[in-house]
Amino acid sequence: MNLRLQQLIQNNSVQDETSECWLWTGQISNSGYGRMMIKNDNNQTQMESAQQISYRAYIGEITTGMLSRQTCHNRLCVNPAHLELFDPDAWCK
Ligand SMILES: [Zn+2]
Repeated sequence: MNLRLQQLIQNNSVQDETSECWLWTGQISNSGYGRMMIKNDNNQTQMESAQQISYRAYIGEITTGMLSRQTCHNRLCVNPAHLELFDPDAWCK
C-alpha cells in the first residue's frame, strides 16, 4: 500500500460504472497502455506503466521480472481488482 501512488492513480483515472474499470486519463503509450513519469525510491524519475503503478499503490511491490496485466483486458484499466501479476518469460514459452 502506498498512499502517494494511490492519490496519483485517483487523480489520473475515472471510474466506469458499467465495467467498474478505472480508466486512465493520463499519458498513453504507443501500445495503448497508460503510463507516467514517477519518482522512484532514489528520487530519480522513470517511466512506469499505469497498471504497474496501480498494483504497487494498492496491492504491493512487484517482484523483479514480473509484470501486471488487466484481467478485464482493458489496457487503460487501473482498477487494482482487475490486475494480476504474470511472468512475461513464462508467458512467451
Ligand atoms: Zn478493468
